[in-house]
Amino acid sequence: MIVPGNLFILSAPSGAGKSSLIKALLKQDKQTSARAMQVSVSHTTRDARPGENNGEHYHFVSVTEFKKQINNHAFYEYAEVFGNYYGTSAAAIDAQLAQGIDVFLDIDWQGAQQVRMKKPNVTTIFISPPSKEELESRLRSRGQDSDEVIASRMAQSQAECSHYHEFDYIIVNDNFDQALLDLTTVVNNQRLKCRQQTIAQQELFSTLLNNEATKTA
Ligand code: 5GP
Repeated sequence: MIVPGNLFILSAPSGAGKSSLIKALLKQDKQTSARAMQVSVSHTTRDARPGENNGEHYHFVSVTEFKKQINNHAFYEYAEVFGNYYGTSAAAIDAQLAQGIDVFLDIDWQGAQQVRMKKPNVTTIFISPPSKEELESRLRSRGQDSDEVIASRMAQSQAECSHYHEFDYIIVNDNFDQALLDLTTVVNNQRLKCRQQTIAQQELFSTLLNNEATKTA
């Protein structure tokens, strides 16, 4: 029997280090866990940044196509962030979870609110930067956005941070290794829950609870 995958949401103001944390978590998990983990690929109407590939980082679609998918109820959630639409495909997530894959949604607080209503078992995590100064410096060091975009993202980050208390876990990304360890702890916490282990360790418990004496050689 397949243990259904866990659904996680990671939210953070851009520049808090969320993408790097997820990337490191996926790499580490591949080496250490028997379970599979993937990050959901969202749909967006924003333009691709240099180095971003369609279908890998996002599904880049037109506003018309996005609205068509809204009307078809194709999204678990969608929101307008920085003037562009972003959405999470319901069918893709359900297929991954049914295959026993743990799925991470890298979405904003508006999306987190919508998913929480539809998937009450979701585990939500807020990644906070250690300070405002560090956040701005990280946004600038990416070298991808203009001053105007950075100023607008800093303003948006305050809105994102104001929702921190709606999340199950809060991780302050000051020291990257510590933040990764914290994230790993949250993931393991979910995976070790009795509900999951009852399915994963079915064979073990049927042996442990079997009254037949153990055969000795
Ligand atoms: P970026 O354009 O920098 O990749 O992402 C901007 C913001 O949009 C980030 O906070 C990211 O978490 C959020 N975002 C990305 N995909 C989705 C999505 O599918 N739904 C929602 N609600 N937010 C998303």
